[in-house]
Amino acid sequence: MKDYIPDMYQKSIYTVDYSKLLSKGIKCILYDLDNTIIPPKSSDPVPKAKDLFTSLKQKGFRIFILTNSPEFRLKKFTEYYGIEGVSWALKPHTFKLKKLIKKYNYKPSEVALIGDQIMTDVKCGNKVGVTTILTKPLHEEEFFVTKINRFLENKKLKELEKKGLFHKDDFYE
Ligand SMILES: [Mg+2]
Repeated sequence: MKDYIPDMYQKSIYTVDYSKLLSKGIKCILYDLDNTIIPPKSSDPVPKAKDLFTSLKQKGFRIFILTNSPEFRLKKFTEYYGIEGVSWALKPHTFKLKKLIKKYNYKPSEVALIGDQIMTDVKCGNKVGVTTILTKPLHEEEFFVTKINRFLENKKLKELEKKGLFHKDDFYE
């Protein structure tokens, strides 16, 4: 059950208290792409996100996109945002996340993962022990695979709500 509960829960990537992450010793932030940075199926980069990433890099964070989407989709965004990325991450599997952490010599305590799904993003991050931050999905329109995940997610959320472990839209840091 713990695997599905994020360390922080925020309305969007713009409401996260990044100074707090910095003071917690976080050095690297991994962002999910679809429904976290951009609406799903969109292929247009968001200028506001570019400003955010630029300011975070200036603060000393290393920024990555960690997405289950294919490389051809990821590439356009990493180029525009000027950040690095990992495609085909297969979250909630932890293989690619672990590989990235090892490659850049981070401890899990120095990494935060931000995404909109508890079944993929939060579970993946929690299994590895990084700080997990759940954000509200940007848009309701979703990929078919995500719809299945979302169905499972809603079931899981109801279970968590029942146990008083998580409440939708009850944001916390
Ligand atoms: Mg997503």
